[in-house]
Amino acid sequence: MLYDCAIIGGGPAGLNAALVLGRAKRKVIVLDSGKPRNRVAHESHGYLTRDGIKPAEFRKIANEEIHRYPSVETMQAEVESVSRTKNGFELRLVSGEIIPARKLLLAAGIKEVLPNITGIHEFYGKSLFSCPFCDGWEHRDQPLVLVSDTPHLFHSIKLLYNWSKQLTVCTNGKQILEEEQLNQLRERGIPVIEQSIAAFIGSDGKLEKVRFTDGSQIECSGGMVATQLSANLSFQEELGYESTEMGGIVTDPMGKTTAEGVFAAGDAAYVMPSQLIIAAASGSKAGAAVLADLIEEEWQND
Ligand SMILES: Cc1cc2nc3c(=O)[nH]c(=O)nc-3n(C[C@H](O)[C@H](O)[C@H](O)COP(=O)(O)OP(=O)(O)OC[C@H]3O[C@@H](n4cnc5c(N)ncnc54)[C@H](O)[C@@H]3O)c2cc1C
Repeated sequence: MLYDCAIIGGGPAGLNAALVLGRAKRKVIVLDSGKPRNRVAHESHGYLTRDGIKPAEFRKIANEEIHRYPSVETMQAEVESVSRTKNGFELRLVSGEIIPARKLLLAAGIKEVLPNITGIHEFYGKSLFSCPFCDGWEHRDQPLVLVSDTPHLFHSIKLLYNWSKQLTVCTNGKQILEEEQLNQLRERGIPVIEQSIAAFIGSDGKLEKVRFTDGSQIECSGGMVATQLSANLSFQEELGYESTEMGGIVTDPMGKTTAEGVFAAGDAAYVMPSQLIIAAASGSKAGAAVLADLIEEEWQND
């Protein structure tokens, strides 16, 4: 069966696009490998009507809603490669199965690369977070650490300071901050520790201490850590779309990439800020853009 659109990624971006296309009577398949970016989180916040929902529950509701539309299919599958054909595209799954589709929507998200610090995986998504909009409220006014060695550090400090004034900055062995910035932090009583971090310590996912390589340690009840982001998939060579230096797929405001018939939405297109509701909104727009392309093509060939 030739689908009108194949969607790679069944997160909020891909599923909202499927909802729009299903309601437009289009044959759609959503292929998802089951590794959402926020899978380590206990709860998701900031999505009106769903604030505090568990990530798995969010997906369950989304899937139930799109399955009301009979032309939408979902499949748990990982897409291995993609190629162009005269009808559009062929997606090869890891299982070897081939899925043909006229249009392609890339909504496969991104992944976090965490700094290599002992214990980090025990706490990330529970008491160590990377986005204060997602988790700052739950940690408000508590003693927090901010672990970052990126050039955005000073901005991140000011941001997290909004949620807690009891802040300790850890640069994990790097000297990032300029003297003037350090002065501003001193004036506000924000300590900066440049010693390398040996380990995160705590229990049941709750961070309690940060231990440094010189043996010293500080107490805290959680914190924010800067992560590196990397694209979940890159079919740039096969499809010819442009992407940014960071790996985000370049799109117009509706989610159309620079490659014919290829659309992108959500974290995969680095739609910022990186939030569920923003990803869903960009998926909705991309769904409409896919439909516009299909309609125009059919109108011309009628
Ligand atoms: C720890 C953590 C906590 C967060 N908390 C919040 C929060 O509280 N509120 C909030 O708004 N945002 C939160 N976010 C951000 C939010 O998770 C993302 O912005 C959102 O998931 C992006 O949606 P998406 O649909 O673009 O990608 P995703 O939700 O990541 O979905 C992409 C899907 O594509 C699939 N995929 C990847 N490659 C392939 C392939 N080759 N074939 C098939 N499928 C593939 C993946 O398995 C995945 O299911 C959090 C992020 C993290 C890391």
